[in-house]
Amino acid sequence: MSLPADIVDLLVVGGGINGAAVARDAAGRGLSVALVEQGDLAGATSSATSKLVHGGLRYLEHGRLRLVRESLRERELLLRNAPHLVRPLEFVLPHAPGMRPRWMLRLGLLLYDALAGRSSLPRARALRLSGPPLQPAVRHAFRYHDAWTDDARLVIANVRDAADRGAAVLPRTRFLSAERRDGAWQAQLSCGALRCRAIANVAGPWVAEVLSRAHAAGGRRVRLVKGSHIVVPRLYEGAHAYLLQNDDRRVVFLIPFHEQWTLIGTTDVPVDGDPHAAEISAAEIDYLCRAASRFLAQPVTQGSIVWSFTGVRPLLDDGKADVSAVTRDYRFALEDAGGKAPVLSVFGGKLTTHRRLAERALARLRRYFPAMGPDWTAGVPLPGGDLATDALLFELRGSHPYLAPEHLRALAQRHGTRARALLEGCGALEDLGRHYGGGLYERELRWFVAREWAQTADDVLWRRTKCGLLLDDGGRALVASALSALTEAAPGVSAAPWRTERRKW
Ligand SMILES: Cc1cc2nc3c(=O)[nH]c(=O)nc-3n(C[C@H](O)[C@H](O)[C@H](O)COP(=O)(O)OP(=O)(O)OC[C@H]3O[C@@H](n4cnc5c(N)ncnc54)[C@H](O)[C@@H]3O)c2cc1C
Repeated sequence: MSLPADIVDLLVVGGGINGAAVARDAAGRGLSVALVEQGDLAGATSSATSKLVHGGLRYLEHGRLRLVRESLRERELLLRNAPHLVRPLEFVLPHAPGMRPRWMLRLGLLLYDALAGRSSLPRARALRLSGPPLQPAVRHAFRYHDAWTDDARLVIANVRDAADRGAAVLPRTRFLSAERRDGAWQAQLSCGALRCRAIANVAGPWVAEVLSRAHAAGGRRVRLVKGSHIVVPRLYEGAHAYLLQNDDRRVVFLIPFHEQWTLIGTTDVPVDGDPHAAEISAAEIDYLCRAASRFLAQPVTQGSIVWSFTGVRPLLDDGKADVSAVTRDYRFALEDAGGKAPVLSVFGGKLTTHRRLAERALARLRRYFPAMGPDWTAGVPLPGGDLATDALLFELRGSHPYLAPEHLRALAQRHGTRARALLEGCGALEDLGRHYGGGLYERELRWFVAREWAQTADDVLWRRTKCGLLLDDGGRALVASALSALTEAAPGVSAAPWRTERRKW
């Protein structure tokens, strides 16, 4: 896509979950918006999360009631507005001697349910355990519910909606600098110059760098804390997750990951330097294997790891010494020149709270755009989210009976009701074109390029899908060459100057 010729109202810097949500919200209020992302959309922190849409049970211990209440409200809205991407997830919280006392867990869960208000999810209750996958000595547990999402696809859904509402989306475009001129901003991007009335600096771990590129001061700081996950073959039957308390009082999740795997995470390790350079260390691997094995009948070994990934949390610096205790809340910093040319910076923020964060960001910008529309995102589904997944699957099975049930489910969960358009005109399996493996066909690949800004194999294999885990080297190479043929054919789309690597173990 080329740069908007004239001036835009809002330049959003950062194509993670928060930038995507700000661009969507602003475009839906009638502002003209350009979103720039230096790499792939969701290429940084927002595709390396635990993928939980949750209030954060452990934040209660730190007294973060406002954040937990807001997150639980957002959980409910997301379950309603993006049923294809956000699904209920049952958690089992085992209790063993030496852990926080049982009465404390019970009280915490009661408060958690109370803060959720009128929730569609079941309330917490005590549970008796017997045998595998946990060690026989672990007898007591609690059961409660949160939700699980596909983080990268949640970003894409927000960006897609922003674009459908008129935003210009420019992935692989770097914000280089900006200066104020005649009451507006003159921004230099890696693809040219752009005039804008306001800047939303939603650059996550790079928020301070973007501020300095705009010669502005935010007055706040972020702390960069990396977190890693490992993926192993499925450790147990059942669709529930475990929340395990480690001997350092931190908690570690075991989460069913697609059909075949279990996701184990995460860690909290302070980092400095380039966030892109962060990767899992041997000590983190050891920590995660040990934390899981404390409870499991069969220990998790390093040799069973099939994939790992690492992200860097841009945490709002609240001066806490213990990185696990640093707040997961967010704050804004707003700076302008004589009431014009504002730059609004976002510090912190969870995946779960992105919609509300965007709403509050736009409220801060209202004084510069008094004619913009009211809050709107709470009641509007994300693209594809206008039908419950079971109803959609029933419909798709009827219209495309030649597709395997697991393939239809994957399409319904990736695209929601937009799977109808993706499959339009298909009457037989051959109509989907070449199969690269793992249920990834040429037709969907073309969709990712045309509708979801995919350009490289990583974009498709690790963010638009997780087919990277299903394909062998040959299949991945086929996807890479198909994509370069497709993107070369697409006018105005350049080769990737920047990419994230997701390392196969
Ligand atoms: C290990 C881990 C687990 C987590 N688990 C959860 C969870 O389960 N649930 C939850 O709610 N939250 C979770 N979080 C928190 C959540 O992931 C982050 O808070 C959120 O993804 C931050 O999103 P963001 O958009 O602010 O930042 P990012 O996703 O990092 O996006 C910022 C973007 O700005 C771009 N950018 C930077 N500089 C420039 C520039 N000059 N020009 C153009 N673009 C630029 C970057 O490339 C980047 O893509 C987790 C975080 C981590 C690290």
